[in-house]
Amino acid sequence: MRAARTLLSILLTVAAAGQSGCVTGEGSGATSVQQTTTTVAGGGATPVPTLPPAPPPPPPRPAPPAVEPIVRIRLAEFPTSADRIVLTHSAGGLMVGVGARKERLLTPVSIWSEGGAIVAQGARSKSIHRWPGATEVQVQAPSGAAREVTWNKTRWPGEMVVARPDPARAQLDLVVHVGLETYLPGVLARELYPNWDEAAFRAQAVAARSFAVCEHEFWKTRRHYDMVAGEASQAWIGTTTHSRSRSAATATRGRLLVWGARVVPAYYSSCCGGRPADAIDCVTANPNCDIPPLQAHQERSTDCCESAPRRKWSQRIPVEEALDALHPYGREHARADLVKLGRLRSIEVVRRNDCQRPEALRIRDTRGTAVEITAEQLRWALAAATGPTPSSSDFTARLAGGTLFLEGRGYGHGAGMCQHGAQHMAVGGSDWQQILERYYPGSVVQTAWK
Ligand SMILES: [Zn+2]
Repeated sequence: MRAARTLLSILLTVAAAGQSGCVTGEGSGATSVQQTTTTVAGGGATPVPTLPPAPPPPPPRPAPPAVEPIVRIRLAEFPTSADRIVLTHSAGGLMVGVGARKERLLTPVSIWSEGGAIVAQGARSKSIHRWPGATEVQVQAPSGAAREVTWNKTRWPGEMVVARPDPARAQLDLVVHVGLETYLPGVLARELYPNWDEAAFRAQAVAARSFAVCEHEFWKTRRHYDMVAGEASQAWIGTTTHSRSRSAATATRGRLLVWGARVVPAYYSSCCGGRPADAIDCVTANPNCDIPPLQAHQERSTDCCESAPRRKWSQRIPVEEALDALHPYGREHARADLVKLGRLRSIEVVRRNDCQRPEALRIRDTRGTAVEITAEQLRWALAAATGPTPSSSDFTARLAGGTLFLEGRGYGHGAGMCQHGAQHMAVGGSDWQQILERYYPGSVVQTAWK
């Protein structure tokens, strides 16, 4: 089973750590309060105590862009100067350089960092090209050749940027800059099973496009890439020949999900287990994303993904391992209460959403200490124990005989579109607009660019 069907499943927490603009609001400093000093007559500059800076306001969702964005996808990190990025092209050469000054190098081209410079070397050449102090070097196909670059035996459309994000470190990041419409087919081909219906592919295309627009608009002024090529953002396999993925992107070109005149970050996951989640509980902390299209609705609770393989699951974790996983999670997330937990006595659900999906659980230790934790946080804390990451946050937990027994439903975070549910609707004759209406209720499809 291809793990990709998990999609944004994992995003959410990894994302919670900073991949998604709507997830963290990290870095939004547009109107933060400035520290001030006031000059007092007859004296020097005397600091006037001020309130601590107010936290930055959560970023708004973006308006639909008028033109197709160029999205920036990070493929990989190369932490040390010993790492080599090896790029090729079927034409046998690549244009490498900064701005208009590019050199044609024979492939394979090797690129690495060395003594404060990004350097490159072409095949069969002894000369090494250096760009001292450069924060990035661009790599393009030669003019007239297919606009793609091959790395790691995969063809990536668009152009590559080798970025050096921190001048004090040797790390290089390999980032693809590609038109959103060209990017999309390689997302669809990885996110859905190839034999699924056209309607599911088209609904997925609109959701993935909308999500990418939100990521791009948030990150474009904050860091050198918008998304990664993986489950922390969206899976992506580069250039694809899968015809349904290509036709679904083309048929929905420029179409975005919109609510309140702004784009919906259309989260989606593999299988909601019949009990969808609110995005605000599992994917994002941004109140601007707590909108009807991303909230769980009771009418979604039935007839969704009953036939999906992960609709129900169970897992066992030795109780000592569970505790050993909770402690480092607590340290990492500044949760002293988790760090202090002793031997576990019970874990019970204390809050559920309208669809009966657990939102929060209470952990008690044998000393009587009680700690509350969200279901999604507990899922990711337990990921550190041996064995698989719990498939979803929709589970109940029981302690018996030194073992923690989890009984769960679904796969992924459960917010927004359920991919297996979308396919189920498509098989039943629904079109892609009906699928989107069900999973993002209240949103409208708007054509942003032609
Ligand atoms: Zn479902």
